[in-house]
Amino acid sequence: MTTEAGDCPVILWFRQDLRLADNPALVHAVATDRPILPVYILDQGSAALQPGAASLWWLDKSLRALDASLRARGSRLILRRGDSEAELRRLIDETDADAVFLNRRFEPDAFARDADIAHALQAEGVDCKGWNGTLLARPGSVLNGSGQPYRVFTPFHRTLLATTVAPPHAAAPDALATPPEPASEDINAWGLHPTRPDWSGGFDWTPGEAGAQAALTAFLSRGLKSYSAGRDIPAELATSRLSPHLHFGEISPWRPIEAARSAAADGRVPAAEAEKFVAEIGWREFSAHLLHAFPQMTDTAFRPEYDAMPWRNNAADLEAWKRGRTGYPIVDAGMRELWATGFMHNRVRMIVASFLVKHLLVDWRAGEAWFRDTLVDADLASNVQNWQWVAGSGADASPYFRIFNPTAQGRKFDADGRYVRRWVPELRGVPDRWLHAPWTAPPEVLRDARVSLGADYPRPVVDHDLARKRALEALGIVVARRAGQGD
Ligand code: FAD
Repeated sequence: MTTEAGDCPVILWFRQDLRLADNPALVHAVATDRPILPVYILDQGSAALQPGAASLWWLDKSLRALDASLRARGSRLILRRGDSEAELRRLIDETDADAVFLNRRFEPDAFARDADIAHALQAEGVDCKGWNGTLLARPGSVLNGSGQPYRVFTPFHRTLLATTVAPPHAAAPDALATPPEPASEDINAWGLHPTRPDWSGGFDWTPGEAGAQAALTAFLSRGLKSYSAGRDIPAELATSRLSPHLHFGEISPWRPIEAARSAAADGRVPAAEAEKFVAEIGWREFSAHLLHAFPQMTDTAFRPEYDAMPWRNNAADLEAWKRGRTGYPIVDAGMRELWATGFMHNRVRMIVASFLVKHLLVDWRAGEAWFRDTLVDADLASNVQNWQWVAGSGADASPYFRIFNPTAQGRKFDADGRYVRRWVPELRGVPDRWLHAPWTAPPEVLRDARVSLGADYPRPVVDHDLARKRALEALGIVVARRAGQGD
């Protein structure tokens, strides 16, 4: 394709910003008044950037939705697969494009890769520019009084809110000029949707920008007004379920914040509920800023002494946890919800993560890897930060000695057993009183409920009191190590 001078196209490189509204790179591309080449590159070269299977399921639908939105505006999404830099170079050769615009990714490997690509392309005269379209503030811009990254959430969040201003709303453009060449690969050939077997039958999601907006609208009318209490009840649909949409950048993180605050300003919801929700989005932000400042936290404990934990790493225990067969109903319900839907309620994520790390003494990195593969909202920063938080080794972590009792957690947050009965149907007939600890039920109760422990449903893989004692002994090793370091 030959182009007139000054009419060279701009490559708009989509990554985790799969939307047309509030997309800074798109706004700047449109402002050039030049043809735009919207591109997505499936780059499976780097293990650290490799999405898990559930994320690939989502990506498939989100890319199709983005392509449909672009086509409705006279444009389309050009798909390529391979090494990002090589594919960009190929596109530049094919089209005479002399600019690449993108919204930045801030995970360490993606950030470093993008910087290398920008450097190499700039050296050849290609204008490579990036913006922040995925976070409220650019990592590295929210610092404490000594100019250092925050390690504690509350002061981080306070400074974030005090120093960051929402960018003006940018509606999706009505039309986009995209030349008919070059060709795109066929997404059907990418095999992102699982086959043989297709395990996604229970995935009830609408990936894409419209799905994100619909989730937000539903949450504003349903969950927000009693968010702080409702968000702890896994049987309720009381949270926004925006996390996968935010991860894939189908909505700017400013939109839910502004919508919640405007609902509070109009008196539709209490202000405290709106701010509690804003604080949760703040945790997403905190996770991303922490990972950017401390890239080693994907692999090593944020508090190094925790790398002395004497993990048991028993393979059968890990397998029982993954399959939802630990014998603790609230844990098993969570793990089965995850497998069936690609999602797990936040309260239950904390319970199952604590169970793996403390009751079973399995290294948090094994749990993080399983979540990365099975969650539709798998996000390197949020996942690692939360696993380290639960394990006690993270920045602003829950103390290791606080060991969740899964039975007590089940009774407190699933008192009527709706959540457990939905995901562990073999226990459906067990009365509430014994539902969260079926091994304590009298034999006639289990008989009436048609449950034979060890056959229909497992006995606990570990006794809670024993596990608690074992975990505290393990912690003793960490504490001794810290004392030895003079901390
Ligand atoms: P809402 O309650 O509606 O919250 C709104 C948004 O705030 C969420 O969409 C999310 O973007 C953000 N948020 C809420 N809680 C947290 C949190 N604790 N940390 C970071 N951001 C938060 N979240 C992910 O997005 N990806 C992950 O890979 C991930 N892994 C997790 C692993 C563990 C062990 C735990 C305990 C939590 C993890 N979370 C992760 C955080 C949290 O569970 C989800 O963000 C939340 O359940 C998503 O549901 P929601 O959108 O309905 O949340």
